[in-house]
Amino acid sequence: MARWVGEHADDLADVIVAETGKARDDAVIAELGYTLQALAFWARRAPGWLADERVRWAGPALVGRRLSVRHVPLGLVGVIAPWNYPLANALGDVIPALTAGNAVLLKPSEHTPRTARLAADGLRACGLPDGVLEVVTGAGEAGAAVVDAVDMVMFTGSTATGRAVAERAGRRLIPASLELGGKDPMLVLADADLERAANTAVYYAMQNAGQTCLSIERVLVEDAVHDRFAALVAERVAALRTGRPGGLGAVDVGGLSAPGQIEIVEAHVADAVAQGAAVMCGGHRITGPGDLYAPTVLTSVTPAMRCMREETFGPLLPIMRVADVDEAVAVANDSPYGLAASVFTRSARRGEAVAARLEAGSVAVNDAMVFFAALDLPMGGWKDSGVGSRHGIGGIRKYTRAQSVVAASRLPRRDLHTYPYRAWRTRLLLSALRRLSAPRRGRPRLAAPGRRSPGR
Ligand code: NDP
Repeated sequence: MARWVGEHADDLADVIVAETGKARDDAVIAELGYTLQALAFWARRAPGWLADERVRWAGPALVGRRLSVRHVPLGLVGVIAPWNYPLANALGDVIPALTAGNAVLLKPSEHTPRTARLAADGLRACGLPDGVLEVVTGAGEAGAAVVDAVDMVMFTGSTATGRAVAERAGRRLIPASLELGGKDPMLVLADADLERAANTAVYYAMQNAGQTCLSIERVLVEDAVHDRFAALVAERVAALRTGRPGGLGAVDVGGLSAPGQIEIVEAHVADAVAQGAAVMCGGHRITGPGDLYAPTVLTSVTPAMRCMREETFGPLLPIMRVADVDEAVAVANDSPYGLAASVFTRSARRGEAVAARLEAGSVAVNDAMVFFAALDLPMGGWKDSGVGSRHGIGGIRKYTRAQSVVAASRLPRRDLHTYPYRAWRTRLLLSALRRLSAPRRGRPRLAAPGRRSPGR
């Protein structure tokens, strides 16, 4: 399939661009780039992660038994995909679901059905048997019908729809893995490399016209470097070329991909300006065909503004001045979302210490969004940003159910703990269990509250 994607890169990019209006480079770098990596990754990792596992003897009750775990396909997996990455966010989940041995019902967004169909054609051309992957098109009701038909659902989209999907899945007691919205903060500390921080903020806020769940949606900058950082960002954003997509390199920022999306961006900017925000650049629609909005930088923003609280999902970057790192952490965490975050500081160690204080499923230090390409790492949101994760070992095991097997060939005719009960035997068993369960000398013990641990 990776070979097919490579050979059909132009066709895939044509359809993605036609359906979304995104810059062609966004289609190639983010969608084709991710898909090629994901195909190679799951092919390499899946055999080991799906193989039967032998587990070591785990207690006196199991003497003489062999313990193992099998990872059994669930049956039929529903993948409900959004419009912002019609290839990466659809095929990206279809690959591990199929690889784990399931059939898949893929429900793309009503705004982007053709990309999903083309990808399914590709898999069929590569030998996927008929009926193993079906693409179900339609609007929200089609998504709901998919939840009613499958054994597990993988959903990517808004938190509101994710909640509806989880409720529906809950009624049927099927597992639901949800990758939802975000309001990802970037923290810029006073000792940061401001050039790198500014370049990273601009790219990961404006790439895909800001329509990425992991987009940088707000920046919190320490007072000492705020003005310089904001000036660097505004200078770079003002230089971006926005327009209807053409060939590679034709524009930097393309259009908004779904109806109503540009109105959300306009509403967030208007709300911020009405409450005193300053527009450093952009702040308006671009007239002409395509839903184009000028990449926008706002300063003098406050946490009360919609652009600092709600997912904008557009080319908008609000920059807020904070007194120090403590305020930055407090504002970053004051959000219902917890998808990802980034921290800029000269010291990776200091960045990691700040990361540990952030309520986010993924954190990058002096970087952003790269965790999505780190396929060995689990990627999932905390709080309202999701349940479960994609990537890593859990990203394929979730498409299976575990079967634990305890087996033995030769065992005594009757086990010691079974009928008929005899007081002497139960006492003997208890005393043996107490001895076997006691901490062995040299092992660390739990310290009593208020006392120092005896250590090793
Ligand atoms: P949705 O969450 O509504 O759509 C995601 C997918 O779910 C689509 O395939 C959609 O179908 C489907 N769907 C809609 N209703 C149901 C339902 N009741 N049961 C099952 N599936 C359903 O996203 P929107 O398009 O409405 O976007 C709204 C906001 O969500 C955006 O402004 C953005 O903030 C956020 N968003 C976040 C994404 C992310 O990656 N985290 C991705 C997309 C949006 P259909 O499109 O055909 O209606």
